[in-house]
Amino acid sequence: MDLTKQFNWAVVGAGPSGIAAVGKLLDAGVDSSRILWIDPHFAVGDLGNKWSCVPSNTTVELFLRFIYNCSAFEFDNHKKKFPLQDLNPKETCLLEHIVAPLQWITERLKNKVAVSQTTAMALKLDKGGWEIKTDQDPLFARNVILAIGSEPKMLNHSGVQTITLETALNPEALKQSVDPKDCIAVFGSSHSAMLVLANLMNIKVRKVINFYRSTHQYAVYLKDWILYDDTGLKGFTAAWAKQHIDHTLPKNMSRVLITEHTFSESLAECNKAVYATGFQRRKLPVLEQLEGLKYDDRTGIIAPGLFGLGIAFPQAQFDPLGHLNHRVGLWKFMDYLNQILPIWMQYANS
Ligand SMILES: Cc1cc2nc3c(=O)[nH]c(=O)nc-3n(C[C@H](O)[C@H](O)[C@H](O)COP(=O)(O)OP(=O)(O)OC[C@H]3O[C@@H](n4cnc5c(N)ncnc54)[C@H](O)[C@@H]3O)c2cc1C
Repeated sequence: MDLTKQFNWAVVGAGPSGIAAVGKLLDAGVDSSRILWIDPHFAVGDLGNKWSCVPSNTTVELFLRFIYNCSAFEFDNHKKKFPLQDLNPKETCLLEHIVAPLQWITERLKNKVAVSQTTAMALKLDKGGWEIKTDQDPLFARNVILAIGSEPKMLNHSGVQTITLETALNPEALKQSVDPKDCIAVFGSSHSAMLVLANLMNIKVRKVINFYRSTHQYAVYLKDWILYDDTGLKGFTAAWAKQHIDHTLPKNMSRVLITEHTFSESLAECNKAVYATGFQRRKLPVLEQLEGLKYDDRTGIIAPGLFGLGIAFPQAQFDPLGHLNHRVGLWKFMDYLNQILPIWMQYANS
């Protein structure tokens, strides 16, 4: 495979949004030999690497919709059923159930397009296209879709040892990181924070203090839309929080609003901390190089021939009551691509 030529499109990242981007470019009729796909792992991104044992916040139905929405995935060609296909479509599930079919789709797509198993280190706009610097030879593409994902935000409180979110969301790994004498601070009130609290309640630990800035919300399923779809608790975490946060706090748990005067005193009790306070886009030098560069959160356009997708560059959309949501989730990435790819292709050719 000749990787020195200029490709028409490069997709950086092989998580769910990169998979969707490659699939939809093929569906749109882009010549497969003109598409380059770059990722150091090709293992379904953070969903595959880090969050497999996490309960989903979306239903099985939406995962199936993602898989069947793209012809290039050729999902019907998979002879044996995946366990995902036998689950109740209205229920949530462990994320490992969507990771397995996505890994199968990844292998299929890798056989169709050019692949470079590497990390994109920097991008430079030159001669009407993008030079993609890597730890190997540079790669070239007229248009680039960044689907590089996000990382958990970290805080740093001196004297308090951090347990990473990845560890805290994995029940077995968490068990290994906790001593029964620990007092553990958990920051946040989102889906991830509730999962961490639930995991900690299954382990012998002296005390857990949940520090939060804003109260938790529940997603409300209305006739044809979901209120607090991107921020509200759903599925397992909603059920857990209703029972253990709203009703009766576990004996070894307390909750502290971070603006309360008792914050410092309470934090001083803790020897370990988990930060479940949201995610921030992974860094790629081009975004720092072009001072003040922002992506357009209605179109995903970052710069000429440079587009963003996925959890790192989510679409902003108003709900029927006027709240502005940043849409994160597999089906949302696909739905957004269906709207936006025709615009990207026209923009690329204009
Ligand atoms: C705990 C948690 C639970 C979630 N649960 C759900 C859920 O139930 N349902 C749902 O629909 N969504 C869920 N999401 C949201 C979302 O679907 C996932 O975060 C998903 O992994 C985002 O996909 P992505 O492709 O944008 O990013 P990622 O999965 O992070 O993939 C990014 C990819 O880019 C690659 N990459 C990064 N930088 C470079 C580089 N410089 N060069 C080359 N490659 C690079 C990485 O190796 C990786 O493969 C959840 C998110 C989290 C954090």
